[in-house]
Amino acid sequence: MTSRPRYGTSSAKPIRKDRVLIALIVVAACVVIPVLLLRSGGTRQSEDGLTVLSENPSDQAAAALATPASTSVDAAVDQILSPSGTSSAKPATGTAASTTAAPAKPAASTASAPAAKPASSAPAAAPSTSDSKATKPASTNPPATGSSVVSHTVKKGDTVSGVATALGVSAALLRASNRLYESQPLEVGQVLYASRAGVIHTIKSGQTLTDISLTYSVPVGKLTAANGLTTGSTIYAGSRIVIPGATSALWDTVSGLSKGVRSDYIWPLGGKVVSGFGWRVHEVLKQKQHHDGIDIDVPEGTVVRASAPGRVYFYGEQPGYGNVLIIEHASKGYSLYGHLSSSLVYVGQYVEAGQRVALSGNTGVSSGPHLHFELRNGEFPVDPMRYLP
Ligand SMILES: [Zn+2]
Repeated sequence: MTSRPRYGTSSAKPIRKDRVLIALIVVAACVVIPVLLLRSGGTRQSEDGLTVLSENPSDQAAAALATPASTSVDAAVDQILSPSGTSSAKPATGTAASTTAAPAKPAASTASAPAAKPASSAPAAAPSTSDSKATKPASTNPPATGSSVVSHTVKKGDTVSGVATALGVSAALLRASNRLYESQPLEVGQVLYASRAGVIHTIKSGQTLTDISLTYSVPVGKLTAANGLTTGSTIYAGSRIVIPGATSALWDTVSGLSKGVRSDYIWPLGGKVVSGFGWRVHEVLKQKQHHDGIDIDVPEGTVVRASAPGRVYFYGEQPGYGNVLIIEHASKGYSLYGHLSSSLVYVGQYVEAGQRVALSGNTGVSSGPHLHFELRNGEFPVDPMRYLP
């Protein structure tokens, strides 16, 4: 007669080694697999049916915040932007572009890095000049996709209002569709595009239909319908699409914030500059510090706009800065918006100059509600006043 095995007592049979091994493997798998899944992120399907790489702002914020705090309020942001510090914090940007939007056919011109004005004190690393792809001949540009798009080649004596009337649109819509400033004279031979259905948008490299839909607050379905596209269609940088129903509002904003002058970077909002770039005694910390940007006096909740086209690189809380939004522009230029109350965009999203990106606030180490605005060349802060119009 055999005795029944007894469990749960100290006198139970010795535990078999193979069972221990199996138990260990199971436990290890339970721990390791979720960690690997978290690290690898995932992919997300955007509304326009295009795959966008995962971009989880909280992951990046956590990674960035994990760096040791420093006495300098800028150290954490330096960490985000420095080549060595970005590996964990940097969202999928460039790679997403190649799979999502416009495989670079003829080039869309994008804003160049801060290099515009003659530099009296040049930043440590000289920014490269504008997009090399833009040198391709314009004649290779794909034609405008929208069937409702009409064009006019400027002849001697043409005026904006005259051409607008001829094409059946308002002068404001013609300017917006061709990014013309009010003071800008027309050039003979220049081709102007217009559509009665709405403003015309030139697609930039890396931009998706979802990005464009968010820029103009027009559903993706309306964009595809108006331009003869289907879900999953390839869109090309440099080609023009009609944004149905969109007015000249965005371009009017850009015109205003650039003071009517063509500029790679525009003001993020209107307001008085109350503190400049350079060394100062910090109002709150009462110690001498380098101010890496400018402070613009605005009440909490004021709309902040992108200073140049680019991809949202980071949003999260950083020591000193409070809630901070960083946008990456062409040639490793960055614009940074600090002390925000909230963001209106997501990391990885491609935004246009003048697009609403955040609401100002009073978060972080701040003497009162204002916008802290920086421009960076790579990780190096430059004086925004040298680049703003
Ligand atoms: Zn500041």
